[in-house]
Amino acid sequence: MDHRIGKIRLRIGVSACLLGEAVRYDGTDKRDATVAALAREFELVPVCPEMGIGLGVPRPPIQLEGDPTAPRAVGVSLRDIDVTDALLEFGARSARELGELCGFVFKGRSPSCGVNSTPVHLAGGGVHRGGRGLFAHAFMAARPDLPVEENDSLADPQRREEFLRRVRRFGNTRSPDEA
Ligand code: SF4
Repeated sequence: MDHRIGKIRLRIGVSACLLGEAVRYDGTDKRDATVAALAREFELVPVCPEMGIGLGVPRPPIQLEGDPTAPRAVGVSLRDIDVTDALLEFGARSARELGELCGFVFKGRSPSCGVNSTPVHLAGGGVHRGGRGLFAHAFMAARPDLPVEENDSLADPQRREEFLRRVRRFGNTRSPDEA
């Protein structure tokens, strides 16, 4: 079934690597067939925040460090890299500029895109495994009502259907002219 408002398909933002774009730090993708299949019903809007802030491919990998409630995104081995502010600014800007979205599917465990599964390396040693990537953090703060999910969760048919129900409901609250 094609989910449209009037003649306009509902739009869902997606971490670009999940759609097969080779934008990861090492030049690979993380194509997720379940996520890609949503294109049969919705318009998928790919976004890669690390490319968006001007990091190319390949690029040095980054990780989250410090306070799990306000971590920094720094280079894993190149310690002078710190893209914290750039990722937060890009997230806030994307929330303003991506237009009418009815949901977002984020790549789990990413220091930029994870929602609740990203490792945060603690100052005293150890790892907190429930962190949020900085792009996702800023984007979700700016659009708190938007239905969001991590890609791994969508492998569960029940959670996928629940997410899509929320997406459709969100879309139905908008008139055709606004969509
Ligand atoms: S997880 Fe996010 S930042 Fe990393 S490659 Fe995918 S879209 Fe880009």
